[in-house]
Amino acid sequence: MGLLWSEQTWPTIRACARAGWGVILPLGSMEQHGYHLPVDTDAANVYEVAARLAGAVDKLLVLPALWTGFSSDNRDYPGTVTLRFDTWSRLVVDACVSIARGGFRHVVLLNGHGGQHALTQAVAARLLDEHGLRALAVTWFRYIADAMREICATVAGGIDHAGEFETSVVAYLRPHLAAQGELAEHRYAAPLPSMPKATPAAFIPHLRQTMSPSGVVGAPSQADAAKGKAIVEAAVERLRVIVEEFLALDVDAGGEPAPPAAAPP
Ligand SMILES: [Zn+2]
Repeated sequence: MGLLWSEQTWPTIRACARAGWGVILPLGSMEQHGYHLPVDTDAANVYEVAARLAGAVDKLLVLPALWTGFSSDNRDYPGTVTLRFDTWSRLVVDACVSIARGGFRHVVLLNGHGGQHALTQAVAARLLDEHGLRALAVTWFRYIADAMREICATVAGGIDHAGEFETSVVAYLRPHLAAQGELAEHRYAAPLPSMPKATPAAFIPHLRQTMSPSGVVGAPSQADAAKGKAIVEAAVERLRVIVEEFLALDVDAGGEPAPPAAAPP
């Protein structure tokens, strides 16, 4: 069993560091989620997944979720509180450097906001480049994209904002917050006619209202708590495996580029 970081004393946390425990930093956001979901959806969902991982993995401390993030696409909706990318990047880097100063070597950046997927990987690259820290960067719902396609009927394109996926998870975890208003529905439209619906290889940023006035991308009418339960359980089971593998990884292992066998002239 892991532990919640915020409930421990510093001697306990020092003992965890000396025993080789890992740390999860959940990365959330504060942004519009349509007419019907709360603005803390990403932070609350990723924290719950992280807390359940602490129940499934030994030697794992879970920090509180960062409640704000980089939400420039949703910036024009009241309720969104966003940071500039560099502010957010430095915030995450500073937190990880501080965690490492406490003696931890394994930090998991567990991202819960789709707009931070690539940026979380960029922050992990920055941690290695500037501080020699090798973190695991993973966006929890993208990691289970195949399970998501089996559970949800409308998430095949991989993009869901307050749609079937997110509404289902809120309906499971916090049912009293899952249906606060009209269930608007907008489908994702690729920005160029020949672009596939969701491809990591080509990207044009947009402001959300140009695609969806309500802020929803997806079909929340298809959501239910049973789907949310299946999604969360699939995520915990799949993430448990890679987190355990990461905790066993020697992140400090060095190595040198190998010169050719024949000496250069
Ligand atoms: Zn979200």
